[in-house]
Amino acid sequence: MLKLYLATIRFALAIFCIAISFVLGAKILGFLPDLIHGNSRLIIRWAIGLIVSGIGVYSLLIARLFSSMKVSQLVASRVSQSLDALTEGLVVIDENERIVLANRAFSDTIGVPQPKLVGRRVSSLRWVGSPTATVHDCPWVRASEQSWRQTDQRMRYHHPDGSFRVLCINASPIKASDATPGGVLATFRDVTMMEEHHAELEQMVVMLRNTRDEVCSKNRELQVLATCDALTGCQNRRALFAFLDKAWARMQQEGTSLACLMFDNDHFKQVNDTYGHQIGDEVLQRVAAVLQEAFPEPSIACRYGGEEFCVVMTDVTESQAVAAAEQARKQIEQLRFEEPAELRVSASIGVSMSEFGARDPQEMINQADRCLYVAKEQGRNQVVAFDEVVDQSTQSSQCVGSNATRKSHRPTETVQGIVALLDAIEGK
Ligand code: GH3
Ligand code: MG
Ligand code: MG
Repeated sequence: MLKLYLATIRFALAIFCIAISFVLGAKILGFLPDLIHGNSRLIIRWAIGLIVSGIGVYSLLIARLFSSMKVSQLVASRVSQSLDALTEGLVVIDENERIVLANRAFSDTIGVPQPKLVGRRVSSLRWVGSPTATVHDCPWVRASEQSWRQTDQRMRYHHPDGSFRVLCINASPIKASDATPGGVLATFRDVTMMEEHHAELEQMVVMLRNTRDEVCSKNRELQVLATCDALTGCQNRRALFAFLDKAWARMQQEGTSLACLMFDNDHFKQVNDTYGHQIGDEVLQRVAAVLQEAFPEPSIACRYGGEEFCVVMTDVTESQAVAAAEQARKQIEQLRFEEPAELRVSASIGVSMSEFGARDPQEMINQADRCLYVAKEQGRNQVVAFDEVVDQSTQSSQCVGSNATRKSHRPTETVQGIVALLDAIEGK
């Protein structure tokens, strides 16, 4: 301010000197005859004219001096040099959004020389915004309007070299000493590389996610292939034993029961020989469909091998298992084919229960298999349930058959019969 004051004084003196020179010049050139000879009116006019023109010129020059007085000119050169040393772009903006100070980093970042920046509106620079963006979206404008700092705002900038830059902007309002808004201090950090790396990483993450999803879906397909029978769509032997392991453990823990039903198509070789393997395959598919429908979850229906199927039922009594087997037998018997229409199929079924003394799943399957053998022996197309008591002797007759004409016997009924017989003998 002292400098300003001295400049004003110097300016006034200069005006005064000009006026004196003007008067002296006029006198020398003889333009002031009236002034010398005491024409007081003219003297007053001249004086007023001089004072008015002096004040006018003085005001004009003072106004120009003030208008050309920039903050940048007031900032000490050392401060300005220090700001130029910053790697981050820094801009001081006045309350009209005009740049009053821009450091070198900012000028380099946006590709406009420092002197050309001063006086420019920041929003008039080559910002690339969304079509709906307005000047009010600019962080420095928001900082000024809301009197609150704006941090980490990203804006895209179209550099004069043709490239696009991403700048991270922080803007804080500057309060004048009387707490009135005094412009904004904004910093600009070029994060273009970071953004590019970020975009690359995001792309990579998307790619990895897609790959993971593909691997998961392939794994699921493999899982299905590993546990499903390709011809019939039934579960395969591997899935059966996985299921049995769990079901067996649960059965032992909770004291529930398991039923194992072995199905074998009757005279299937003959079907192949008579109608060909393709028809044989179709028969297997139709039988598998019957079993899958008849034994939904939590039961499991598997292709055990060739023309044999194994069904495991959980939490059922023997009579329920035998009834379900009998029902399935009838459905297989009722299967009809478009071509050959005369083809009839049937299956023999062996049924065993976990409470019949098997020590593991395989032994239970073997028991059901033995019953199946008995069913074949007894004429096929029938259900035979395992009879634990009679199984202690070794022959196939130790299983009791059930089909349309036979009824299965529960082991307890047999025991009760023997006990009753012994009682009767002892009573005699
Ligand atoms: P049984 O009534 O005693 O069970 O006689 P069977 O002819 O059904 O039994 P056998 O064991 O003699 O023959 C089974 C046949 O099943 C032999 C085999 O060629 C056929 N087979 C096994 N797997 C397939 C298959 O995937 N497709 C077809 N079409 N036939 C199969
Ligand atoms: Mg067989
Ligand atoms: Mg067979």
